[in-house]
This record gives sequence, structure tokens and C-alpha cells, in this order.
Amino acid sequence: MSQFHSIVSRRDFMKGLGLVGAGVGAAGAANPVFHDIDEIASSSSSLQHNPWWVKDVDQPTTPIDWDVLKPGRVAYVGTGMFGGMGPDVLKYSRAETQKLMINYLKSEDPNWQPGANLLGVKSASTDPEYPDFAGDIKDNALATGSALLTAGVFPMEVIMATGGKYFSLTDHPEGWREVPYITQRGGTKWQGSPEEALKVVRAAARFYGFDDVQAIPVDEKFLKVMWGTKQMIISNAPTTFEFGDVDDFVCTPAVNPTNITIPNKCKWYLNFTCRQPGEVTRHAQSTTQNAAQTYSYANWIKTFKHVQDFLWGLGYISLDNIHGRFIPTGFTGTMCGAGELSRWSGILTPKYGNMTRVVHGVLTDLPLAETSPVDFGARKFCETCGICADSCPQGAIQQGEATWDARYAWENSGYLGWRNDLTLCNHCPVCQGVCPFNAFDKSGIHEIIKSTISTTSLFNGFFRSMDKTFHYGRKPAAEWWDDPNQPVWGMDTTV
Ligand code: SF4
Ligand code: SF4
Repeated sequence: MSQFHSIVSRRDFMKGLGLVGAGVGAAGAANPVFHDIDEIASSSSSLQHNPWWVKDVDQPTTPIDWDVLKPGRVAYVGTGMFGGMGPDVLKYSRAETQKLMINYLKSEDPNWQPGANLLGVKSASTDPEYPDFAGDIKDNALATGSALLTAGVFPMEVIMATGGKYFSLTDHPEGWREVPYITQRGGTKWQGSPEEALKVVRAAARFYGFDDVQAIPVDEKFLKVMWGTKQMIISNAPTTFEFGDVDDFVCTPAVNPTNITIPNKCKWYLNFTCRQPGEVTRHAQSTTQNAAQTYSYANWIKTFKHVQDFLWGLGYISLDNIHGRFIPTGFTGTMCGAGELSRWSGILTPKYGNMTRVVHGVLTDLPLAETSPVDFGARKFCETCGICADSCPQGAIQQGEATWDARYAWENSGYLGWRNDLTLCNHCPVCQGVCPFNAFDKSGIHEIIKSTISTTSLFNGFFRSMDKTFHYGRKPAAEWWDDPNQPVWGMDTTV
């Protein structure tokens, strides 16, 4: 950011926008959203705690053709965004993928060395001939130190001790329910308004480690996008979902179910945003995955289970949507206003860009205030930007204009957007490291840029060039170790 100041002063920048002497709020005044304080207080933005320049909208910025979307679709593996990966996965061999990644890393740093391999790290390649690498020994150690409980998977010793019956924290989609139900403990179910419920859950979710919460109803639109059958990345068999007149989830078998009956009373989807350590991601020099991802994959699944047991403690039930278990998370994140669907094909959040792992949620019978889709100019920015697509070492991110086309049976043609080719993506995640929305500089100028982007697309090309010219994206790995004041858990939670 200092480079930006050296070239364009804050005053010059504001002058360029015609806002000198007017203050930051004037950028929003050019396109007013709220008319008075009551309107702001009653908006879903106040429930979502978004910055002031994020607008609530009736329809998401991604156009959706509801007539094309059909319920009961089948997905085999992969979370997808509006889609999910099919059975005929991965176009490149592991060797080809590794070659592309190593070439990319060497194009950033000609001195990059693979170092020790990551065999044994749960999220890494299990192919002994083409394992993953994390470069320098310190980065390698950071990655291997993050492996415990990644994707919720128990240590092998524990899996073996249970004869393979228990595999992961995701074994119980309804939560682990560490204590008996509230009435069995002499209490009664918590009661409150839907707005209070969202507030209470938000406080608890933030305590456990998520960021914001949003909610949408389980309505006709939701059911059109929900999977009928889905196989999760870490499962051996697909799970079938149905609704029924039952009091609690009926999971068959009880552990790692392949059939789940959802009580009809579960009419709300509670969405969480979970941040990923931004600076570690930006400095990652690994062939796939890295410490920020593996650590987040361990934390967010555990955090989910804490929130589910919190809901259980209130007297309510929930079903986790970990790994997009029953609905694509691009849809839920878009509809509840966690962010906008982007070229990267995931949710771009107003506060942290795409530096989230994850934007997932739970289905619950706790009545929740509904939040709205948002518009902060992200989709519009993606139209001009395309940095992620240009940078992707595997060529997985769609270039050019957004389309309605579904290229594979498991993709969805019901929306006008960009699709990540999940037969190519190796989860590296260069796209997260380069996205200009992930700039966390607290000098204030990024807030101004974001508020400008939300107001006008006039400067999008300039901001895109600025990001490329000043290399705000990915950084050399060694730099991360030089900062003695890295925030706890790699994230500045005051931002
Ligand atoms: S889409 Fe992102 S994570 Fe996937 S290969 Fe491309 S840059 Fe890597
Ligand atoms: S890198 Fe650019 S095009 Fe890609 S998601 Fe971020 S803003 Fe959109």
C-alpha cells in the first residue's frame, strides 16, 4: 500500500473522484441506499454487520433462471459452487498438474526448490510418485504442523482403533451432541424473535471462530438447488436426502449416513463465513494446499460442530452442510448476502474478499431473520478484472464473459456466471492469493477503493492495473517469516 501512497496521494485520489473535502461518506452519497437511521437499523446489513457501502438488494447480482433449476440433482464428489464434481474427475494426470504448478512457482521465484514432500499430510497428494511440496523447510513445517484434524479426519490410530467405524468430525451430520437434550436436563427450549436468534447465534459463532452469520428460508428456490444425492469428498458412498414428518434427523446408518430424512420443521438455513489466514495464503509457495488451507480445514469443521452443539444447547437441531453436503454453497452464500458470486466462482465477501474457507452453514429448526443478497460492485469488478483466471496455473477459471453454459452434467446452467472447471482445479490456491479484494491494509485507502467500487465501475480498470503494477497479490514466502507481529491464528481480527 505504501507504493500506492508514493504514486497517488489520498488527496489526489479523492480529487480524481471529485470528492475532495467531502469525506468518504460522499462516495456513498453519490448512490444513496438508505434514507434514515431506522432504515439502516432495520436492513439486513445491520443484521449482517456489513460495511456501510454494502447495499442490500432484492435479487442477487448473479442473474438466475429459476425455470432452468430443477430439484433432486445428483453430485458425486467435490463441493462445487452452484455445481459439483462428477464421477469422471480430473483432466490432468497428477504428474501434469504438478509440472504446471512447479512451472508457475518457478515463474514467480526462479530459485524455488520443492524441499521435502508432504506425503502423510491429509489434504496433500497421496501419490508417492507425484507428491506435493511446500518449498522451504519452514513453510513445509508450517504445513505439516497444520495437518492434525484437517478436513475433520481423525488420526489414523483413532480410525484403526474403531475398526474404521469413525473417520472424521463429519461422521455425525447432525452434530455430536455432547450433552443430553435440554428437557432431559430440566430446562426448556430458548425462545426469542428471529432477529434475536440471529444475533445470539452470531455472538456464539464468533466466539467459536466464525465471522458473520446470515440466514435464508428453505423455500422453493432453495429446494430447486439442493442435492437429491451427493457424495462428499471424504466419503465412500453418496448420501440421499429427503424431507419427512419426523422430529429429528433420521440418519441411516447412524454414523456416516447414506440416507438422511430431514424434519419438515427445518425451515431455515444458517450461513457462516469462516476466514482463512490471508497473509499465509498470499505467501504460500506450495504445489497444492498450504498451511493456511490445511489449518483452516481443521478449524472450520471443529467450529461447525461447536455451533451445532450450541444450537442443541438452545434446544434446536441442525444438519451440517460441510463440503456442500446437501446444497452448493455458492448458491446459499449468494442468496443470504454473505457476498457476491465471483469469477473465481466462489463467494467474494465485502470484508475479506475470497480469503474465506469457508462460506458454509447448517439447516435448522431455529426460526431466523432472513438476510438479503448484497451488491458491493464485486461481480461488476470481476467483469473487468480476471486476475484470478489469468493467474490460475491449471487454467481452471473461466476467462471472458459470464455465460449460462454448463459444460458438464454436474454443473448448473441456471445462472449467468463464471464456472471453475473442477476437473482442472488442484486447490493450490493461487486464485486466493492474487484477488485484489483481499487487500487487508488498514491505512484506509482500501476502504475507499472498495466503497468506490460499490458506487461506480468507472475506475475498475484502473484499480485492476494498479493491483497488477504494484504486485499487491502473492508475495515471496520468506517475507512472511520476517514479520514478528503476525496476528494470532494468522488473521487480524480487528479488521
Ligand atoms: S482455481 Fe484457484 S485453486 Fe484451483 S487451480 Fe486455479 S488458482 Fe489453483
Ligand atoms: S481476482 Fe478479480 S476476477 Fe477474480 S474473483 Fe477476484 S476480483 Fe474477481
